[in-house]
Amino acid sequence: MENLTKIKNFVEEKFPAYGINKKREIVRLIFEISKRENVPFQEIISEVEDTSYRQIKQWLVERRYPSLKDRKDLRLYLPEVEIYSENRFLPEKKFNFIPKDIYVEKKVEKSFLARRCRELFPEAKLTTISSLKNYLQDKEFKLSDYNQRREMIFIIKENYDFFKKCPCTRGACFCGYSIFNLGLGCIYECVYCYLQFYLKNIPGIILPANLEDFFRNFPKRFYNYQFFRKPRIGNGEFTDSLALDNLTEWSCELIEFFRKKPEIFFEFKTKSSNIDNLFKVKPQDNIVISWSLNPQKIIDSLEFYTASLEERILSAKACGEYGYRVGFHFDPLIYYENWEEDYQNLVNILFRHIPKEKIAWVSLGTLRFNPELKKIIENRFPENTILDAELFIDFDNKLRYRTDLRIMMYRKMFAWIKRKKKDLPLYLCMENREVWEEVYGA
Ligand code: SF4
Repeated sequence: MENLTKIKNFVEEKFPAYGINKKREIVRLIFEISKRENVPFQEIISEVEDTSYRQIKQWLVERRYPSLKDRKDLRLYLPEVEIYSENRFLPEKKFNFIPKDIYVEKKVEKSFLARRCRELFPEAKLTTISSLKNYLQDKEFKLSDYNQRREMIFIIKENYDFFKKCPCTRGACFCGYSIFNLGLGCIYECVYCYLQFYLKNIPGIILPANLEDFFRNFPKRFYNYQFFRKPRIGNGEFTDSLALDNLTEWSCELIEFFRKKPEIFFEFKTKSSNIDNLFKVKPQDNIVISWSLNPQKIIDSLEFYTASLEERILSAKACGEYGYRVGFHFDPLIYYENWEEDYQNLVNILFRHIPKEKIAWVSLGTLRFNPELKKIIENRFPENTILDAELFIDFDNKLRYRTDLRIMMYRKMFAWIKRKKKDLPLYLCMENREVWEEVYGA
């Protein structure tokens, strides 16, 4: 913060003739170089002799993004740097989910979920509201409020938004996934999570109390489910599927519902080890419990409050032994020095503990996010290192690693995984045709 103010003052004094947008770009570049290389900002600019905007910008851009020296087609995103200390997320040493406020829509105040919240959180203040929409109507939320979202639960009656096609991303090859839209918001803190942007105006965790209406409105037909044998549907898109399962107990009901639909795969996607309820019901072949996996050092620095790698693997092992099928998502894959060693090791750990025949599918997806998320990440997680990478605006207007780098990462992961099980269903998440063809062959 202090450094940023100094950079802004420095640019103001050194280049008084530049217009406001030019100054902002120069500040952004100096700020990023100073952070990435861990050098004092004064040293960066002292190496530049020219004072023409074009020359300086080019020099700074090539230092910050070395790939641009021979790839002029790569598109940069250089927004103004605006960082405010009140937005910073400070992880608690010991994570406990204990909401202070529970808002319940009148229509569901007698629901199981409302009762359960009262039992589990007797200290929380309970307020009945006519509807979430009315409650939010005249309120405005700031980014700093997002840090407090674990303090509020909204128990609502969902009326319309029961299912949707996975929004995927523009220009990507769609994998045919459908979303069971149960739960909005997550108690975990992943630095790269898109919900920080998507839910920035919602100050709590939203839990629908009318699961029966989801079942009643379950669609008869599904979207094209591509190369899987059956349609796949899951509820881990706008929340973590199991993080709050001890509270909601949704898993038992979902499994009972999908037990009678063997023509569909239902997937729980999680980074938790909250699996106790899964053992209270009979397992079923079309129920897949999936974990996102990353090396422990990435979990420590980017996935706050989630289960450790060991806990995730042991949970998957237990679910597999009990009779479920399990899935794994290497998503987001993070590029850094020694990534190869760490991810290859991760693949080895996975296959050492989980019998191959239990694995329903594996997906791969490199780091990507909407440009708007860049400013949110640097505000909430100023020490993050994921933004130090070279990220460019790509085919879907999201920030991504260079295409050739992504292809290289996918090919390596693909080879390590296929060496363990040749016919394992392995797909890329949110990638375009060019990348698919380079990884899989035309
Ligand atoms: S577990 Fe998933 S939904 Fe929750 S914060 Fe992490 S990325 Fe977001």
